[in-house]
Amino acid sequence: MNIVIVGGGLAAAKATEELRERGHDGPITVLAGEDHLPYERPPLSKGILLGKDDADAATVLPRSWYDEHGVTLRTSSAVDSIDLEAGVVLVGEESIEFDRLLLATGSRPRHLALADDSGASVAYLRTLEDSAAIKASFGPGRRLVIIGGGWIGLEVAAAAREAGTDVTVVESLELPLLRVLGPEVAEHFAELHRSHGVDLRLSASVTGIDADGTVHLADGESVASDLIVVGVGVEPVDDLARAADLAVDNGVLVDEGLRTSDPRVFAAGDVANHLHPVLGRRIRVEHWDTAIGQGQHAARAMLGEDGDYERLPYFFTDQYDLGMEYVGSVGPDGYTDVQVEGDPATGTFRAYWVRDGLVVAGMHVNDWDATDAIKARVGTTV
Ligand SMILES: Cc1cc2nc3c(=O)[nH]c(=O)nc-3n(C[C@H](O)[C@H](O)[C@H](O)COP(=O)(O)OP(=O)(O)OC[C@H]3O[C@@H](n4cnc5c(N)ncnc54)[C@H](O)[C@@H]3O)c2cc1C
Repeated sequence: MNIVIVGGGLAAAKATEELRERGHDGPITVLAGEDHLPYERPPLSKGILLGKDDADAATVLPRSWYDEHGVTLRTSSAVDSIDLEAGVVLVGEESIEFDRLLLATGSRPRHLALADDSGASVAYLRTLEDSAAIKASFGPGRRLVIIGGGWIGLEVAAAAREAGTDVTVVESLELPLLRVLGPEVAEHFAELHRSHGVDLRLSASVTGIDADGTVHLADGESVASDLIVVGVGVEPVDDLARAADLAVDNGVLVDEGLRTSDPRVFAAGDVANHLHPVLGRRIRVEHWDTAIGQGQHAARAMLGEDGDYERLPYFFTDQYDLGMEYVGSVGPDGYTDVQVEGDPATGTFRAYWVRDGLVVAGMHVNDWDATDAIKARVGTTV
């Protein structure tokens, strides 16, 4: 059985590894769009951006692994289209046959036309090159404006501050991370950044950007910058699937077992909009752990194993000396109560989001033994 994997991230690499570990000895071709071995992205806004790790730290499997396991890995090989009827993918003029196809094309940063069209220095963070370029802009006396107080924006803020950079974060909501964490816990992150010298502009919106990097805000103030980093979310790279007439809606629609609307084609990671059997709704998760778990699950599914992908979303972040893990999903119905255990002022605490008596998500801050207990509590009643 001829297996083709499209993508060059964590989901693609983990699927490839799992296929060989599960005994698949037929041909595997990995078509990766970037000029790198498949790599994971969390270090791009942490170890690599802080200068503690080099780019190799992000590589999932070394080149020798692909060679030793008889996997054809082609980098700089973006797939142009999929012909489902012929059972091929096209890279330029070349067509590559598949019996099973995995789409692991990930996501890309949402762009802000106001910034892109301004003529100022503007960056987004998704690739190793982006990370290197942003890191090069850090340093005492340098001025960074970050648009968007989400995970990426705050991690960049932390790395930039540690390098002595002047940092302003512009966030349209009243608190950073407000939608994910709610006011009780989001305030903790706001205070963390303020205490490290970040100028947080909350309930603030950008009305214009000058070519010299001056960022104008709706309240009439303006902030000078040498670089503007935009972190306003990502969108799934589902163009190939849409053009091939696979079912697509905010990502490639997959069933509980990660199958697309074509039984030969699967999707995993950021691009997959999954019918989650435990949550009972569709969810497209943009987290490292899901790329691993879904990549592996899709590999087994391509080999004919039945079963649903049931893992709950899990996320982690590191900012300054704060480490956090979060399990579960509050979802569109929100929560009715937040239960905080421990005193956030000590820097170590747990929090649970509860909806009508059901724990829908939990997290800890700097309480690394808590992970299993939190996972066990999500889905239980209080
Ligand atoms: C800076 C940063 C920090 C992050 N930190 C965390 C964190 O701390 N915790 C966490 O849980 N998550 C984190 N994430 C999210 C996590 O990295 C993603 O969820 C994960 O990368 C998804 O993996 P993926 O393989 O699905 O997609 P991606 O990593 O996006 O990889 C997709 C790959 O497919 C390639 N591709 C796209 N189209 C084609 C095509 N037509 N042909 C061939 N190749 C193609 C792309 O070039 C890309 O290399 C972070 C993300 C970023 C950007």
